[in-house]
Amino acid sequence: MSTIVWQPTPVTKADRRRLNGHSSCVVWLTGLSGSGKSTIACALELALHERGVHTYLLDGDNLRHGLNRDLGFSADHRAENIRRTAEVAKLFVDAGVIVICGLISPYRRDREAARALFEPGEFIEVFVDCPVEVCKSRDPKGLYRRALAGEIKGFTGIDDPYEPPEAPDVVVRTDRMSVEACVKAILHHLEEAGHLGLQDGAAAERAAGER
Ligand code: ADP
Repeated sequence: MSTIVWQPTPVTKADRRRLNGHSSCVVWLTGLSGSGKSTIACALELALHERGVHTYLLDGDNLRHGLNRDLGFSADHRAENIRRTAEVAKLFVDAGVIVICGLISPYRRDREAARALFEPGEFIEVFVDCPVEVCKSRDPKGLYRRALAGEIKGFTGIDDPYEPPEAPDVVVRTDRMSVEACVKAILHHLEEAGHLGLQDGAAAERAAGER
C-alpha cells in the first residue's frame, strides 16, 4: 500500500486562474513530422501572449534535450515521452497557464491517456493535418531524407504508423491553410470554449459537452 498522501495546497487552480484573468488548458498539437506543429505552436503562443494570456510552450523535440533525453522512439518510449509531457502540461494547467504542446504523438492510445489526466474541456486536441507527401517535400529538418535513406529507423509516416485523431477538437490543414488561418481557427476554438476569459462552471461543462 502506498504511503504517499496527496498534500493539498492552500492556493488552488481556480485562485490562480482568477489572478491571471483567464482559464487554463492544454492545446495538444499532433501530426506528422513537418506538418507544422512547431510553426503553429510558436505563432499561437505569440498571438496569445500579445492578448495578455499567460502561456508556455512544450516542444517535443526540445523536451528530448532534457526531461526526456533518456527516451528513444520505440512504442514504449514514445508512450513514456507523452506521459511525462502530459504530466508537465497538467502542472502548467494547474498553474493557470495555457500550455501548448507540439508532439508527433502518433498513437491514439497515448493521446487518450494524456487526455485522461485532465478535467473535461481542458485537453484540446488539434490535428495538424498535412499529407505525408507534402511533409516529405518540406522536410524542414532533413529527417525524411535520412529516414528514406535508411539512416533513421521507425520514422513516423515512413516505417512507423501515424494514427489520426478520430474526434479532434480542431483540425488545421496546413497544406491548404496559411499559418495565420491555422492560428485563427485554434484561437476561435479557445474563445468559444471560454478559455480566454474566466470560466464559470456551466461554460466548462458546455465546452466538455461539445466534444
Ligand atoms: P513539425 O513541428 O510538425 O515537425 P515544423 O513546424 O517544424 O513541423 O515545419 C513545418 C514547415 O512547413 C515549416 O517550414 C513551415 O514554414 C511550413 N509551413 C507551410 N505552411 C504551413 C502552415 N500552414 N502551418 C505550419 N507550417 C507551414
